[in-house]
Amino acid sequence: MTADLVIHGGTVVTDTTTFPASVAIKDGRVLSIGAREAMPDAAETLDATGLHILPGAIDVHVHFREPGYTHKEDFGTGTAAAAFGGVTTVFDMPNVIPPTGTGEALAAKQKLASEKAYVDYGLYGLLGEDTIAHVPDLVAGGVIGFKLYMGNTFGNIPSPTTGGMLEAFEVVAPTGKRVSLHAETASIMARRESRLRAAGRKDPLAHLAARPAVVAVEAVSRAAVLSEWTGCRIHVLHISSAEELRPLADAKARGVDVTGETCPQYLLLGAEDYGRIGPVIRVNPPVREARNQAPLWAALKSGVVDMIATDHAPHIPDEKVRDDIFTVDCGFPGVETQMPLMLTEVAAGRMSISDYVRWSAVNPAKVWGLYPHKGILQPGAHADIAIVDLKRAWTIDDQKLQSRAKITPWHGRAVTGLPIHTLVRGRFVMKDRTLVESARGTGRSVHTVQDMPAPCVANPDAAMTEIVKVPASSRGPAATGAAA
Ligand SMILES: [Zn+2]
Repeated sequence: MTADLVIHGGTVVTDTTTFPASVAIKDGRVLSIGAREAMPDAAETLDATGLHILPGAIDVHVHFREPGYTHKEDFGTGTAAAAFGGVTTVFDMPNVIPPTGTGEALAAKQKLASEKAYVDYGLYGLLGEDTIAHVPDLVAGGVIGFKLYMGNTFGNIPSPTTGGMLEAFEVVAPTGKRVSLHAETASIMARRESRLRAAGRKDPLAHLAARPAVVAVEAVSRAAVLSEWTGCRIHVLHISSAEELRPLADAKARGVDVTGETCPQYLLLGAEDYGRIGPVIRVNPPVREARNQAPLWAALKSGVVDMIATDHAPHIPDEKVRDDIFTVDCGFPGVETQMPLMLTEVAAGRMSISDYVRWSAVNPAKVWGLYPHKGILQPGAHADIAIVDLKRAWTIDDQKLQSRAKITPWHGRAVTGLPIHTLVRGRFVMKDRTLVESARGTGRSVHTVQDMPAPCVANPDAAMTEIVKVPASSRGPAATGAAA
C-alpha cells in the first residue's frame, strides 16, 4: 500500500508520552506510526526533523461572527486563524444574526461554513426560552451541542429564567447533547453595572467590579442543580475564578456530567494588566485578580477543569478602544495564539507537552464524542495534526494575525513555540507558515451522537419529564418549514 504522505524525523506527542517516529497518512487518516524503515512508500514526504507532531487542538469555544458581523470575522478568516494556530477543529457559537436557534438558521450557517472553512467545525445551537421548541430540529440539523447564556454578553441574547433553563435541560437531556453555559448570573451583573455607571465609573477596572466572582459561583451552582435533576450534560465555559471551582468540583463528585474549560487570558493575565492593556482587555467573564491563576492551573492538573479553549471573540479596533469601558465590545481573538501561549508555559516547565495535548485535544474530543476519531494520533484516527517548533522564540504581532480583528491583549508578548504546519484529515491547511488557499471549503461539520450512559438524575420522578416534551404541533413556523 502506498501512503498519501509520510512525515519523517519528528517527535510524536500523545497525552501520556512522546517518542520519535514517522507518521504515515492515507485517505485522511493515520495509517501507521513507527520506525522510518517500517513506513510504506509515499506519494509525498515531509521532513519534520527537530519538530513535534501533536494532535491538532480542538477549540470548543470560538465566535466566527457569521452571519451578521462579518466585518469582525467570517468562517474563512476565523478558520485560517485556527490553521495558523495549530487548531484543527473549532466549535462555533450561535450569537450571530440571526441567532442559530432554528433549523433554518442552522442550515444556512452550515452552508456558509462548509463553503469557507479551512478546518473542521461544530456548530452550537442556541438554547434560550424561545428556542426550546426548536431543539429537535437543531439536533436533526447536526449541532455539536447547545449554548445557553445565563449572563449577558455580545449580541444581547436574553438569558433564560431558571424555570426556562429547567425546561430546556429536560428537553435536551434525552438527546445526549451537552449544554455549554455562559455561567454568569445576569441579574447580579445588571445591578452592579448600573450602580457603577451611576457613580461615574467608566475605567477598565469598573468592568471587573461589575462582575464579581460570585456571579459565576451562583450560576455554576444553579446549573449543576438543574443538570443533576434532569440528567442533562453541561459544560462550564471560560472558567475565570478560583471560587467557581468549588461548585464545579462538588458537582463532579456527586456524579453530575459536568465539564469545564478555562482560557489563556485567565491563566496568564491578571487585574494588574488592565492599566497596561487598557480597554482591549474587556472580556466576559473579566480577567480577574492574579491570585486566581494558580488555582486554575491546579484545577487543570487535577481534572476539575477539563480543557483549554479560547473564547475567540474578535472585534475591530474601533470597537475595542473607547473611553467608557461599558461601551467597549467584549472579547478578543485567541484561536491563533492559544497554542504558542501554552507552549511557552511548557517551555517554562509549568506543564508537560503531554498535559497540553490532554487539555487541548484529547479531553475536548472525549467530552464531545469525537474520540478516538479526533484528539489523538494513532492508526485509524483522523490525521488532524499540528507540527510545531517548540524552541522557536517570537513575538506576537496583532497585525500579522489571520483574524480580521487585529487587536488582542497579547500584542508584543514574547512566546516560545510555533506551529509550522497544520493538517486536517491529512490535507495541509497551513504549510511552512503559509495558508494553503486550495484548502478553503474543505472543513467539515463534526457531530456525533454519543452513547448514552445512565445519567446522574437526582429527580426520582424523572420519567415525569415526559410531560414537558414539546409536541411537534407547537413548534414555530421556521421549524415546520425546515425542508427549505
Ligand atoms: Zn464566548
